[in-house]
Amino acid sequence: MSYEHIARQSLGFFPTPLIELSKLSARLDGPKIYMKRDDNTGLALGGNKTRKLEFILGEALAQGADTIITAGAAQSNHCRQTAAAAASLGLECHLVLGGEEPKHPQGNLLLDKIFGCHIHWSGNHRKGEDIPNLVQQLIQQGRKPYVAPYGGSNELGALGFVEAFRELEAQCQNIDLSFTHIIFASSSGGTQAGLMLGSKIFNSACQIVGINIDKGETDKVPFDQYIVALANRTAELIDADYKFSASDLILNSDYVGEGYGVVGAVENEAIAITAQTEGILLDPVYTGRAMGGLLDMIRTGKLKKTDKVLFWHTGGAPALFAYSNDLEVSK
Ligand SMILES: *Cc1c(COP(=O)(O)O)cnc(C)c1O
Repeated sequence: MSYEHIARQSLGFFPTPLIELSKLSARLDGPKIYMKRDDNTGLALGGNKTRKLEFILGEALAQGADTIITAGAAQSNHCRQTAAAAASLGLECHLVLGGEEPKHPQGNLLLDKIFGCHIHWSGNHRKGEDIPNLVQQLIQQGRKPYVAPYGGSNELGALGFVEAFRELEAQCQNIDLSFTHIIFASSSGGTQAGLMLGSKIFNSACQIVGINIDKGETDKVPFDQYIVALANRTAELIDADYKFSASDLILNSDYVGEGYGVVGAVENEAIAITAQTEGILLDPVYTGRAMGGLLDMIRTGKLKKTDKVLFWHTGGAPALFAYSNDLEVSK
């Protein structure tokens, strides 16, 4: 297994902090809970996409690209971090965003604009369907575009989370700590695929538990199969001798609720309790839902008091501002 030959562009501050949430554990009378603070990766208010972009934009630069294109929702954290990274590298950035342009940009969209990227509204084409046309247009204008995948979830993006697992292992060794579970929000699959592979490479017995945020399928493949296939392609990329099957995947879809970005009681409670016990901000779409799942798993006995749980904070808090109408505090 080796990936030293794969290009990488430094974009963030690593390792991110690993902290214990003792007040949250006490409030829940639950297991020890730790948090990996990828909301503090340092790139434009942070988030898990920074790790993926180090390898993705590493490849873009190696190929001589001068323009980055990617796609997402109006409140995409991936698009915001891509816009910031592109700005810092002197690359032009084009975002293809689903839906219609809102009257007042807020949250991530406001930040995209501050980073000076070109925004293309794509209506119902929410998954970057319009990118091939844009690529052709930009080539005709003499540019060298590079397309970063939706959510940063290809093999290179997942590699960022193999590397993240290595980083976590080093932190745990220092303080003689190990976890029974790692729990996080799973949406385009790269985080989970990378953590699954990392846990194999570094011989960890801990359960890698993705909380499904929204997905039934990705690229017309059922989401669970998609993650397993991505983990396998990532293993191939770095010559790691592992073959995953469906039984290796733990994807919990109990908390999808009314779907992507629909904030309900689960997210509201998780955001409030984490803020009010630990002074830490979650986000309304991903980490709020995943932490809501963790709370429920404690209350229903799926996590036991003797467990040691790591919640991987994947970022996203800038979206709080765009969801102010859906948060209980604003009512
Ligand atoms: C993108 C994102 C996720 C999901 O990560 P994937 O690798 O796409 O599954 C989780 N949390 C936040 C805040 C994100 O922006």
